[in-house]
Amino acid sequence: MSFEVQDITKSFGGETVLDGVSLAVPEGEFVALLGPSGSGKTTLLNIIAGLTAPDSGKLLLEGAEITDLPAGQRRFGMVFQSYALFKHMSVADNIGFGMRVLPRNQRPGRQERRDKVQALLEMIEMTDLGDRYPAQLSGGQRQRVATARALAIDPRLLLLDEPFSALDAKVRQSLRASVRDLQKRVGVAAILVTHDQEEAWALADRVAVMNAGRIEQFDTPERLRSAPATEFVADFIGAMQ
Ligand code: ADP
Repeated sequence: MSFEVQDITKSFGGETVLDGVSLAVPEGEFVALLGPSGSGKTTLLNIIAGLTAPDSGKLLLEGAEITDLPAGQRRFGMVFQSYALFKHMSVADNIGFGMRVLPRNQRPGRQERRDKVQALLEMIEMTDLGDRYPAQLSGGQRQRVATARALAIDPRLLLLDEPFSALDAKVRQSLRASVRDLQKRVGVAAILVTHDQEEAWALADRVAVMNAGRIEQFDTPERLRSAPATEFVADFIGAMQ
C-alpha cells in the first residue's frame, strides 16, 4: 500500500520538534529517515505508528486518512527496540502473537496461523528453531524473529526503529540483507529510522535526510551523494564518508 505524511507538525513544551514534514512512500518502497540525534526521526515514526498524536497534519494510507486511527487498528508491523520478544514464549508463539491479537474480523484461524508461522520460519531460515525460547537465540536470530513477527500480520506498512544498533557489525550486515530481502518478497512499504548512513544506503530505495524537524532532501542514495540539495545534506553526508 502507498503511504503519505502531509505537513505534520509537533511541539513538546513549546519546542518545535517537527516543522511541517511531508513524505510520500509508494507501495513496496523502502524509505529511511536519516539524520542526526534530535532531528525528529523517532517522533515522526511514533506519529506514523499512532503512538504519538501530531499537532497538525495528516497521515494517508492508500489515499484514506488514518491520522486518528488508534495504533492497534493500523495493522502496521513494528520492529522497535522497545518491543523486545516475549521471553516466556517460544519463537513460534512470538511470531504468531500478532495474529492472535488482531481484531476478530481480521484474525486468521488456528491452522492458517500455524501455516503462516511455519512459512515465516522458513523465510528467516530458522525452520527447526520454532520451539526455542529467545534466551536460546543469538542477537541476530532474535532480530530475524522480531522481523518475522512484524510481517506475520500481513502489515500494511513496516516500521523499523534502529533495529540493528545493538548488534555487532558482521551480524548487522547479514541482517540488513535479509530484512531487505523479506521486505521485497512481501512487497510491503517500509520506513526505517536510523542515524547510520551505511544502514540507510544498504536498505533504502530512497532516503529522507532530516535536520531540526524538517526534511532537507528526499532522494535516492546516489542522488544524495552526487547532488546534495542543501549545505546541510552535503556536510552531513560528507562528514560520514
Ligand atoms: P531523533 O530520533 O532524530 O533523535 P527525536 O524525535 O527522538 O529525534 O527527538 C527530537 C526532539 O524532540 C529532541 O529534542 C527530544 O528531546 C524531543 N522530544 C522527543 N520526545 C519528547 C517527549 N515525549 N517530550 C519532550 N520532548 C521530546
